[in-house]
Amino acid sequence: MLVSVLVEIEALKEKTFTYSVPSYLEPNVKVGKRVCVPFGKKRINGIIIDIIDKSEYEVKDIIDILDDKEVLTEELIKLGKKMSKMYISPLMSCYLSMLPSALKFNNNNTKIKYSIYYEKIKDLDNPSKGELNILNLFNNNKYVKSSDIKNKTILKRLIDNNILKKVLKEEYRLRKIDSNNKLKKLTKHQEDAYNNIINTDKNITLLRGVTGSGKTEIYMHLIKKYIEDGKNAIVLVPEISLTTQLIDRFVGIFGDSIAVLHSSLSDGERYDEYRRIRDGKVKVVIGTRSAIFSPLKDIGIIIIDEEHVDTYKQENNPRYNTLDIAIERSNYWNSKLVLGSATPSLESYAKAIVGRYNLVELLERVNNNKLPEVHIIDMKEELKKGNSILSSYAIDLINDRLNKKEQIMILINRRGYSNYVICRECGNVIKCPNCDISLTYHKSSSTLRCHYCGYGTNKPDICPKCNSKYLMLKGIGTEKIEEYLNDNFNARIIRMDRDSTSNKGMHEKIINDFNDYKYDILLGTQMISKGLDFPNVTLVIVLNGDSNLNIPDYRSSEKTFNLLTQVSGRAGRNIKEGIAIIQTYNPSHYSILYSKNHDYISFYNKEIKIRKELYYPPFCHIVSIRILSNDYEKGNIEIQKISNYLKNNLDTNYIVLGPSISIKINNIYKFQLIIKYKEKELLYKVLNDINNNIKLRNMRLEFDFNPIKL
Ligand SMILES: [Zn+2]
Ligand SMILES: [Zn+2]
Repeated sequence: MLVSVLVEIEALKEKTFTYSVPSYLEPNVKVGKRVCVPFGKKRINGIIIDIIDKSEYEVKDIIDILDDKEVLTEELIKLGKKMSKMYISPLMSCYLSMLPSALKFNNNNTKIKYSIYYEKIKDLDNPSKGELNILNLFNNNKYVKSSDIKNKTILKRLIDNNILKKVLKEEYRLRKIDSNNKLKKLTKHQEDAYNNIINTDKNITLLRGVTGSGKTEIYMHLIKKYIEDGKNAIVLVPEISLTTQLIDRFVGIFGDSIAVLHSSLSDGERYDEYRRIRDGKVKVVIGTRSAIFSPLKDIGIIIIDEEHVDTYKQENNPRYNTLDIAIERSNYWNSKLVLGSATPSLESYAKAIVGRYNLVELLERVNNNKLPEVHIIDMKEELKKGNSILSSYAIDLINDRLNKKEQIMILINRRGYSNYVICRECGNVIKCPNCDISLTYHKSSSTLRCHYCGYGTNKPDICPKCNSKYLMLKGIGTEKIEEYLNDNFNARIIRMDRDSTSNKGMHEKIINDFNDYKYDILLGTQMISKGLDFPNVTLVIVLNGDSNLNIPDYRSSEKTFNLLTQVSGRAGRNIKEGIAIIQTYNPSHYSILYSKNHDYISFYNKEIKIRKELYYPPFCHIVSIRILSNDYEKGNIEIQKISNYLKNNLDTNYIVLGPSISIKINNIYKFQLIIKYKEKELLYKVLNDINNNIKLRNMRLEFDFNPIKL
């Protein structure tokens, strides 16, 4: 028997080798198991990815098989091969991204929970009564747990006489979960949506439901139906810590048959969840992007909630988009795939409109609660009145809500105290030594910090360039707003940003405390815009509503519209009516105006025209080709070579932009070429040629298909 083994060797590009299997290991061979193989004079680890008939070369025997059961199912082995081609990414990196870290090679840190068992290896002639008591336990069980054998003296004798053998077996760290909650009955609208999704002959449904329309309820009913049909389900959420409320609802319904893959699991717990899924003990998996690789079989439905969110794109190798992977898995199992959002990505909505996806729209909130009234405040006018942080309308409404004992959320898209420190004498802006980026002042620690590489330093008293002592703090961040609110309102304020939630469990604590009305005002960054559901919140204020618009990216309008629509949807989700205030210096921008009326369709129609004119997705695809180098000159030479190669080998159907050089981050320069394309064939050939032939020293080549940032 011969097997094809993918091995992990950094230096080699082609990493699949053929080995023979000694006959005593043959019964144990299976695609997807890890093995130990000889390689030169060393032994290394690999994964069996194929069983093959013959080899032209002389091959060596594998040394050992490391797993009792396969760690990657046949489906995932196939999927990895496909991914590797789709993203021009090493096959091993695709497989490693599917596995929990406990199953990655060279991981010795994971604590696996073992229990001691005994196995009977031979019969005993003329056993005593005590011995018989123990041996009878093995009549129906291959293994008996140590704790089930009471008489340890006799047990020891049986072991000493080689009748019984000690074996260690892995245990799950099982949690006890109540599943007492009942599903709510669907409203008429929800039920129509549910039936539509089940009965359509299309596999992919885009469920556009306004905030508060009860998409989660529909998800749960769908999953229940597929479980009753004997199938399993995967639910993906953008970020676990921000969706604790949603996950609690799922766990309350599905109890022990659910596996939650969240970031605060230890490696050992994650490994246990992985095995529970693989061993068929789980019907529903809920988790963030990597949960799409769960070794679940018989998948009946995959749900991607908030499908428009960026976190579904992996930002390092393999740079996969969760939706691509979900489509592959849904095709494999012929399962339903539901994409849910109040503000679908333009790409998804365009596909739904032309009929490639089934489109289901829920345009009313449950119980006909009104969508919040949105007010746009022109901050240029407010500045004239001397209001630089909060508009007078916002101040009035905050006081009104505090009096009524209702709660308030305030969003500002910047953490820290001020955005940058500038010298009034020479105009010097204090920058990070590793990045071409200004440092942010954090007042609580009196430090300047880089939000890109983590560099930190004490705030200087004088300008490092001209020694002037007139340093000014410019721009506002969460810390400054917190100080401002404390100075101006008699309110209990909690701040939620990356600084205040760096300790494990802080997200959940802040969310729970705010929900329990221990605070009046929740102040935070984008973190507070997603998925949170607080019935007592009746006022939402967005400061710098246009901050995304200043980013030079073709998706900046879409991001602004999504953020404002999502965040204003946080207000008045229960019986009380809500108001949202958007403060901006750009009050007439269409993405702000349409979000005022929660008018996705008009926004879509306007934006799609612009995308068409400028030839951007969904009218083409984009791939970014990057060279990362700490040496500016050498990086520049390589990207020019690639640029010339592309121009000489691609035809006029492809548009090549660049190269451009981005600012230095963490001492690395990023050189980038962008290709806009529709046809894949020639492009992949050319990119593979580049990938296979390029020789780089101290540099990295990256391909990023449909990148989230340009
Ligand atoms: Zn200066
Ligand atoms: Zn930096």
